[in-house]
Amino acid sequence: MAKTVGFYTLGCKMNYAETETLSRKMKDAGFQQVNFSGVADYYVINSCSVTEAANKKGRQAIRAAHRRNPQARIIVVGCYAQLKANEISDIEGVALVLGVKEKFNIVERIREYEEKQTVLSCVSAINEVDSFNPSFSCSERTRAFLKVQDGCNYRCSYCTIPLARGKSRNPSIASLVRQAEEIAERGVKEIVLSGINIGDFGQTTGEKFVDLVKALDQVQGIERYRISSIEPNLITSEIIDYVAQSRAFMPHFHIPLQCGCDEVLRLMRRRYNTDFFRKKIEEIQTKIPDVFIGMDVMVGSMGETDEYFKKSYDFVESLGISFVHVFTYSERENTDALKITPRVQESVRTERSVQLHALSERMHQDFYKRFDGQIRPVLFETRTKDGYQVGFTDNYIRVQAKIPYNAHNKIVPVRLEYKDGIMFGI
Ligand code: SF4
Repeated sequence: MAKTVGFYTLGCKMNYAETETLSRKMKDAGFQQVNFSGVADYYVINSCSVTEAANKKGRQAIRAAHRRNPQARIIVVGCYAQLKANEISDIEGVALVLGVKEKFNIVERIREYEEKQTVLSCVSAINEVDSFNPSFSCSERTRAFLKVQDGCNYRCSYCTIPLARGKSRNPSIASLVRQAEEIAERGVKEIVLSGINIGDFGQTTGEKFVDLVKALDQVQGIERYRISSIEPNLITSEIIDYVAQSRAFMPHFHIPLQCGCDEVLRLMRRRYNTDFFRKKIEEIQTKIPDVFIGMDVMVGSMGETDEYFKKSYDFVESLGISFVHVFTYSERENTDALKITPRVQESVRTERSVQLHALSERMHQDFYKRFDGQIRPVLFETRTKDGYQVGFTDNYIRVQAKIPYNAHNKIVPVRLEYKDGIMFGI
């Protein structure tokens, strides 16, 4: 009888794309996939280490799997596995810990484990990691996440991602075009380009990110692309100009600001200041007037005094963007940020997070209100229990509409009607 395996993914879209690749590899090797919440012979946990809370969730998932089936062999991969292999291999039930370089050899490592019957920890030093494993996920059926780049050469003082994922690397544009064609053949209409530092695309092949954008725009069958997140210093005018007139790249950017105060940006070792950031946002807004711009902002980072937070808050508010993804800083081992003072108390971090969430909500609603009454194309993806079909406009407005036919995976022009915080389609 086929051995069963359940997958559990934590963290970013990259991890989700990679879990799907792991599941395809195990399926090809004869494993049968079951729900993670059921009883399985193997459990694969694709972990994240972006915060201490993420590490904790990883440990909780391991314990939950072990409780469900104490005989099961648990395999832990992902960033937490790369950074804390010893800590993980001591947890009961864990059979294999696979680092960044080894995770895609999962089937071979399972065979090795079955021969030796001893816990295996296969984690290479991160500076030895230079391979790129193609991954995409299509589980949402209308939208796929395509991994176009991995790793990061930057050294932001608070971040452990370069330690967990290694240096910046990428496959060729030609191979990514082939993967996009394969995704299109499956009937998926939207692709989200994913990576750790996407704008740095080209470190391996010498190609440019904008040329990847231009090549993907030609792929038949893909109607929409979104760029998951791109560093502000790497969004060139050429990229903005191309997106402004492209066939399928949506008017949508997600740009990590991290803090709206120059003193803190310097402490974070970010590669821009607020003046540069503002000009970049204004350039995008001028060239693509209906654009949705989301931003990441971290609150409570080391050195963020009350005065600096206030500056950051006012800066974010002044930008007129559409949404803020708020992160709360958490201390990470082996990062230079730990040397920065003052450290912000947990209660103050929480309070700042509440304030920025409220600001984000207000900006998000203001953005929605601007489009009340307009007709925009919506790609329908899901349904609510009360009969609404739900999807997103080109500029990332969530719309729910009563449509007298099944609009799933179809792009339909709808008139938007804003009411009590919800955008309806009529
Ligand atoms: S750009 Fe900075 S924050 Fe982003 S992954 Fe690289 S080091 Fe981390």
